[in-house]
Amino acid sequence: MMIRDRTENRVKKIGLAIALSLTTMMAGVSSRSVAADTDPSIPPVASLDDGVWMKGDLHLHSRHSQDSSNNPVAKIIGFAEKTGFDFLAITDHDNHVLGDVAHNTWTDPEFKSDKVVLLYGAEWTTDRGHGNVFSAKPYDHQRLYDVRDERDAKILAVKKKLGIHLSANHPAGKDHFGFSFDMVDSIEVWNSAIWSKNAEAMMIWDDMLRSGRKLTGRGGSDSHHGTPDSPDKATKNSIQRTANYVGTPTTWAFARTRTPQGVVDALTNGRVSISANPYDPRVELYADRDQDGRMDMMMGDNAQATGKPVSFEVRLVGNRIQGASYTVRVIKNGEPFGTYQASGDKLTVTFTDTPVAGKRSYYRVEVEGPQTPYPEVPNSMRLSGNMIALSNPVFFNFDPNF
Ligand SMILES: [Zn+2]
Ligand SMILES: [Zn+2]
Repeated sequence: MMIRDRTENRVKKIGLAIALSLTTMMAGVSSRSVAADTDPSIPPVASLDDGVWMKGDLHLHSRHSQDSSNNPVAKIIGFAEKTGFDFLAITDHDNHVLGDVAHNTWTDPEFKSDKVVLLYGAEWTTDRGHGNVFSAKPYDHQRLYDVRDERDAKILAVKKKLGIHLSANHPAGKDHFGFSFDMVDSIEVWNSAIWSKNAEAMMIWDDMLRSGRKLTGRGGSDSHHGTPDSPDKATKNSIQRTANYVGTPTTWAFARTRTPQGVVDALTNGRVSISANPYDPRVELYADRDQDGRMDMMMGDNAQATGKPVSFEVRLVGNRIQGASYTVRVIKNGEPFGTYQASGDKLTVTFTDTPVAGKRSYYRVEVEGPQTPYPEVPNSMRLSGNMIALSNPVFFNFDPNF
């Protein structure tokens, strides 16, 4: 019996072309030191220097998904190589091959790259919603597919045995993630170029963070359609290619090594931020717990709250619109904490707060401002509106064994 996908054309609105003016400013970043924790249950924070920022897309459909058009694997990877992406997860619908992902996307001779780190994965496409799998190496996806209608506890056991990273896709609205969030390591808080669709996903993320789940927020374009090779190959969905493709949004990962495992570990640990496109600034959030002027934590890190004030620093790094001012909104424990402006040569914002000792708290930031043009996907900027970037939280007193 053929199992039909609930077709997932999540990009319907197409914006108008926007005039281009690309400005490039690279800002250097350096930070040092590792702070020791006094609470033995919270492991020490990893080095802030030992890694490399990598950018990529974690939700992509190739011709191996039946609802895709003009999008062979080589076209996606070729675009990513040319545009300077560092990693990709091509996540075709597993139900289209009844779980046999191992003989679908991964065995395609085009599934290879010298430049772009390719993760192994698929979109786990079930009646209770969709999730993406990310893995540094091939795994037995069939086993996950086969338990899709079982109780969550059984699925979780299989997921653990496979050693995979599981991520809740587009958690609100159509095909929302209807499983326990205890099963997942991350959540797609920014699906496709259309930022406005993601408000409920952000609410769910904050709910889960408030509940003590240390879930990484990530992006994914969920793009399905490529540029037709000739006009007669165009479909009614081909216009989506101009508005939603690789990197709308772009997920940044601070990876220890430039390898598939480095990317997956960064995702699991939450050293991740999201930008509307690869040319927008990347947001980085740091904290200085002992206020010695040196940052000792970054987003995704978890440490014990001492009851003393902590200094935070938000940095906008990379490309920006020359002379523009960016609005940085700080969210503490799901509630607005403060709004700041970043402008000038060094796009940095600092603030101070005292996380309560003995209680959980988290701080994350959202950045609004003018979109840096993404000429390769020219209609994406309007769909993303003013939303430029999201950080992951800096955490205090989160139980690592939750
Ligand atoms: Zn989906
Ligand atoms: Zn999808």
